[in-house]
Amino acid sequence: MDVDVSLVKQRPGRTQQVELTTTPESPLHWQGEKLTFSQPLVVNLTLESQKGGSISVRGDLRAVVRTVCSRCLQPIDYPVEADLEGTFYLEGRSPEDQEEEFTGQFYSGDTLQLDGLIRESIYLSLPMQFLCSQECKGLCSYCGKRADEGCNCEHQQVDPRFEVLKQLLKDQD
Ligand SMILES: [Zn+2]
Ligand SMILES: [Zn+2]
Repeated sequence: MDVDVSLVKQRPGRTQQVELTTTPESPLHWQGEKLTFSQPLVVNLTLESQKGGSISVRGDLRAVVRTVCSRCLQPIDYPVEADLEGTFYLEGRSPEDQEEEFTGQFYSGDTLQLDGLIRESIYLSLPMQFLCSQECKGLCSYCGKRADEGCNCEHQQVDPRFEVLKQLLKDQD
């Protein structure tokens, strides 16, 4: 996603509000999973032009990503809301008060490329685990059906701790 900064970069201190909407075609890669966008990505930004040609961006984004529940593997849509913040420096000019760890990005011409910043912000807002619901009981280990939908298995789920106990009792015989 690109944003045109030709207006705002004309004078330091100038700000501009922009709203951008897009449906990214390439999926995100997150912990071995592919996340696709099931609804358009909406970005609201305030651009502010700084001395030396750098431009700071601040705002937020909203999106809905399609993934699967990590317990029952059912597809789910996960709503994402994240803050967006960063500084873009004009290529060829180093930042005035460069900090030890330089975390900004460069731009050239009149265009900021926001993809990297957007990806980073989304990743920071994602949970360790996607669940269709907090109560999701996952899959029956015998038939593979979702356990909370019930299944016709006659097997009883065996608690591994009882297995150990049974083994111990057997050894005593
Ligand atoms: Zn689930
Ligand atoms: Zn079952």
